[in-house]
Amino acid sequence: MPNYFCVTCGAQFAETPAPPDRCPICDDERQYVGSKGRQWITPEALKAAHHNIVREEEPGLTGIGAEPDFAISQRALLVQATTGNVLWDCTSLIDEAAVQAVRERGGLSAIAISHPHFYTGMVEWSRAFGGVPIYLHADNREWVMRPDPAIVFWEGETHALADGLTLIRCGAISPEAPCCTGPPGATARGHYSPGTR
Ligand SMILES: [Zn+2]
Repeated sequence: MPNYFCVTCGAQFAETPAPPDRCPICDDERQYVGSKGRQWITPEALKAAHHNIVREEEPGLTGIGAEPDFAISQRALLVQATTGNVLWDCTSLIDEAAVQAVRERGGLSAIAISHPHFYTGMVEWSRAFGGVPIYLHADNREWVMRPDPAIVFWEGETHALADGLTLIRCGAISPEAPCCTGPPGATARGHYSPGTR
């Protein structure tokens, strides 16, 4: 059975024989329903119609998106850290070229996501790298459409990741939305907020 993606917001759902009846993320008042109504796509069809783009943002920081645009044009950032790379936010699409690009940069040790619009293909990304942990704030638990053992719900105001990276519940998008900070003294790469391309 496929794990359908919502075409409007990019969220992936647990396996179902037919497309889900509704997308709770799109039904939320902060989102909208596309002019064509609810639309769904399988992972295979998504891969057939789109490809990942990988772009060096600055040394140690790589942006990953999709072309043509999908959903709300989500972009992920690969934060290359000495104790293991972290994918900050996520994209629905993960293709072989993106996996290879991440491997060439040292692989992936963890995924951390700001808010539910970026939950997208997090489980596929985790599994592509051996089931690495996915850090989500516990206050957003209800917005996980594809549960998975790799998901780690953290609580409170901060959560330390490796190499000085810290998740902070800063409410950039919603009161529950974490952001991520780098090591003390970091400049351009020191603060990663939710973002699209
Ligand atoms: Zn949706």
